[in-house]
Amino acid sequence: MTDNVINQVVIVGGGTAGWLTASILAKKFDSRQPGAIQVTLIESPDIPTIGVGEGTWPTMRKTLAKIGISETDFLLKCNASLKQGTKFVNWKSAPENGVDHAYYHLFTSMFDPEEFNLAPYWSLDLIGQGKTYAETVSVQGLVSDDGLSPKTILNKEFEGVLNYAYHLDAGLFAQLLTEHATKNLGVKHISANVEQVLTSAQGDITGVHTDRAGLIEGDFFVDCSGFKALLIDKTLNVPFNSVADTLLTDHALAIQVPYQDEQTNIASCTVSTAHEAGWTWDIGLSNRRGTGYVYSSAHVDHETAEKTLRNYIGTGAEQLDSKLIKMNVGYREKFWEKNCVAIGLSAAFVEPLEASAIFLIEASANMVSELFPRQKHLMSGVAQKFNDSMGFRWQKTVDFIKMHYFLSERQESFWRDNKELNTVPDSLLALLDRWRCQALTSYDFDNVFEPFPMESYQYVLHGMGFKQDLSVNKQAYANVMQAKQYQQQVQMVSQKILGQLPSNREILNKIKEFGLQSI
Ligand code: FAD
Repeated sequence: MTDNVINQVVIVGGGTAGWLTASILAKKFDSRQPGAIQVTLIESPDIPTIGVGEGTWPTMRKTLAKIGISETDFLLKCNASLKQGTKFVNWKSAPENGVDHAYYHLFTSMFDPEEFNLAPYWSLDLIGQGKTYAETVSVQGLVSDDGLSPKTILNKEFEGVLNYAYHLDAGLFAQLLTEHATKNLGVKHISANVEQVLTSAQGDITGVHTDRAGLIEGDFFVDCSGFKALLIDKTLNVPFNSVADTLLTDHALAIQVPYQDEQTNIASCTVSTAHEAGWTWDIGLSNRRGTGYVYSSAHVDHETAEKTLRNYIGTGAEQLDSKLIKMNVGYREKFWEKNCVAIGLSAAFVEPLEASAIFLIEASANMVSELFPRQKHLMSGVAQKFNDSMGFRWQKTVDFIKMHYFLSERQESFWRDNKELNTVPDSLLALLDRWRCQALTSYDFDNVFEPFPMESYQYVLHGMGFKQDLSVNKQAYANVMQAKQYQQQVQMVSQKILGQLPSNREILNKIKEFGLQSI
């Protein structure tokens, strides 16, 4: 080995970001082998992890399979459940005469829009008359309405009848990853506080001084120290670009809610309900719900926000503890600087409306592992590529989240402020302007790393009642017979599978009893 080769990777921080990154890197490098890159993770025994972050994307199935965690183990050890998307309640408009408005952003649509795009036919009212967009293109909304599971006990690990992700307990997930990464993947775990970060004359990080494990040296460093951003911010001074002018929420209040009894059914989707100055999340785990209110303190005081959340939870809420989290939304000007990459909250944070953070942790760790510059002279080129790619992904994530607010017709001041044009990115306005009179096509999503695919935009746009008029180009959508046939297939599949799927609670009970067959 020469000085030009990277042998030691040091990760600072042991939350979801630190342990997922450690697992993905160690698996890729096969760190158990002599001569392979060694991964060391330093975690403070005193500073707790953020302890929230309970919703994932379907990509987590691939990640778990890749790092070698069994789905049965994961579901049982993390009190996890199966998630099929998000139900947005009262986002379009406030409840009228006690009646809620709701729509789904689902993980499954029945047809690949590349092959046949049903959305313009629905938009022109040529199919799905009287039905919502989601009902027209997917069975998953009905499955979720009935609290059913996306898989049966006959499906193997990570396979389903419908696409799915997970709801999980973040603390238990970090514990499972710790156990797996240290026992099976060769990650070295150090429990200590980083007190000082050392740099070379060129500005590279060379090591960290800790309170109880001395100096830990390395060739490459990953900053997973959460909001503290010890390396990327405090040492390398990479600026943080705030997006607070676009995403107006700045606090989250979280409360864990026990179930009435241990057989209470578990919701199949995250439920996101809009309120006067923000929105609540409601996530069903196997043993409790995780709830929280994400709000703008410029539009509501903390006491009123807490009342809103406790009213939402209902009976028994007064006895439950709450945790207030201040949110600084934005992302780094660069994620990779010198020999350090930031992953997780140290890199970026936007409000958790679309549960995008863990997905972007997986994406970052995968990209670092695939492009890892084992020879140091490759570093700056790889860093540039990583920074461009992650910058694009965060910018698109901000646009997509803002779109939910911008399309709302709610009239409270928070919602009106969200529609002020100077709060809306030009990139989003340009797309929406065009989509008012042109169908969405794959040309709008031509970057392979676009975080939200066309289907996601279609669910949200049409769920929010986006006013689209394609009539001037109606002749381009002449294949109405085929569109109707596709729609009938959705109805037929619905009838077939609704009777076959167990409830979300039943599938977890069965997995506990029998386990899932491995792939
Ligand atoms: P943390 O969990 O804060 O971990 C930081 C680590 O750094 C800890 O181990 C700490 O001990 C260590 N550390 C700090 N200082 C030192 C030191 N001096 N020495 C040694 N170690 C140190 N994401 C989703 O994908 N889905 C969601 O549904 C979702 N919901 C969210 C809801 C809220 C309200 C918030 C705020 C976030 C949410 N997120 C969600 C984001 C998600 O929680 C985080 O992206 C994820 O938990 C990763 O956090 P982290 O590991 O970067 O940081």
